[in-house]
Amino acid sequence: MLVLRPPKGMHDILPTSQPIWDKIRKITKDIADFYRFLRIDTPIVERSDIFEISVGEATDIVEKQMYTFRSGNDRLTLRPENTASIVRAHIQHGLGYQLGYPVKLYYQGPFFRHERSQSGRYRQFHQIGFEILSFENDPVYDAQIIIAGYRILEGLKIKDCIININSIGCKECRPGFIRKLKTYYKDKHRKMCSDCRRRWSSNPLRVFDCKEEKCIVLKKSAPNIIDNLCTDCKKHFQGVLELLEDVAIPYVLAPYLVRGLDYYTKTVFEITTEGFDFSLGGGGRYDDLVKLMGGKETPAVGVALGVERIIEVIMKREIRLTQRPRPRVFLIHIGMAAKHKSLALVEKFRKANIDIIESLGKESLNTQIKAADKAGSPLALILGQKETYEDTIIVRDMKSGAQETVPLAKVISVIKKKS
Ligand code: AMP
Repeated sequence: MLVLRPPKGMHDILPTSQPIWDKIRKITKDIADFYRFLRIDTPIVERSDIFEISVGEATDIVEKQMYTFRSGNDRLTLRPENTASIVRAHIQHGLGYQLGYPVKLYYQGPFFRHERSQSGRYRQFHQIGFEILSFENDPVYDAQIIIAGYRILEGLKIKDCIININSIGCKECRPGFIRKLKTYYKDKHRKMCSDCRRRWSSNPLRVFDCKEEKCIVLKKSAPNIIDNLCTDCKKHFQGVLELLEDVAIPYVLAPYLVRGLDYYTKTVFEITTEGFDFSLGGGGRYDDLVKLMGGKETPAVGVALGVERIIEVIMKREIRLTQRPRPRVFLIHIGMAAKHKSLALVEKFRKANIDIIESLGKESLNTQIKAADKAGSPLALILGQKETYEDTIIVRDMKSGAQETVPLAKVISVIKKKS
């Protein structure tokens, strides 16, 4: 038997859901245009080592979640995230020279992670992301990235978002902190879960991410990274917080927030909203990644928002986003000759930029009238046999029932006057 559903964790986006997706795409584009981010599209598939080097070998994404396959001599991966691809494209095309610094880019599209599927966690999901690559690691860019993500959620009427923010230091101060962390956990091995025992040696910061009760208890007395930052990182972090205060973006300090990707330095953050236990977005600074991937030292910062999660919040909160307005005119035709004239008439309306809806595939007058009622257009145009012959058309006010016959050649101007 053919299994008539998509692979686990993947979903169709049906026509009924498309308006909300369109709205999210439109708001993203408006925000991106306003803040001067330029759109970039990278391939859905990249060479696997792009992600292994950037995201990190000892991360959940690379260890467990990548869809990797062979194609000829290449080992390829369905992209689990986009920062790595953007950095690859930035270096390959010399985007700094082409566009000038800071390079401000945005994207939206599908991503793939073979995760345990559960609410808010899918195997194919969509992200909207913003990235700024610059020569300076100025806190203003961190703030601008957070503002862009926050404004999109605000534009979608998700109003009570909070930025959970931390700094995980840089290559100067992080090694010292990791040594402290290892010392703290050293005699607690038996109290840790098996995953954290493994993380302790391969990627110690990740122990902070563990959801096991016993590891959460241990974390409570663990050394705190903010207290162990170098002067430069402290100053940077303070700068980001002050800028967020200037634009009244609410944040809370999250001293154990680490995020699941290795490339982050300094600022990391997640965006959450009341009543949902997942983040709507996350991001941070990645000052060393461009160099690590073979480019010139280029500090950078980015954010990614999860579209499915945004939609879940909108649906659960029954947030009403403006829908496409009802078409102003419904066109009803009676008979074959009228159908031919109607198709040409629809094109005239399109040219005049007037929204019109028809039912040209239906012949019965009753069915067409029912469809017109359902569409809720205030005006109907009726092209009967007599009108077709006389080159006229009936204009009917659907509310009052009043109607008049006008020359077909004048129908556009008559409709324009009526609205
Ligand atoms: P990340 O790329 O892990 O930093 O995640 C950024 C955002 O993408 C998260 O805050 C989520 O909104 C979204 N996201 C990440 N993974 C998934 C997933 N498996 N399913 C749905 N959304 C996801």
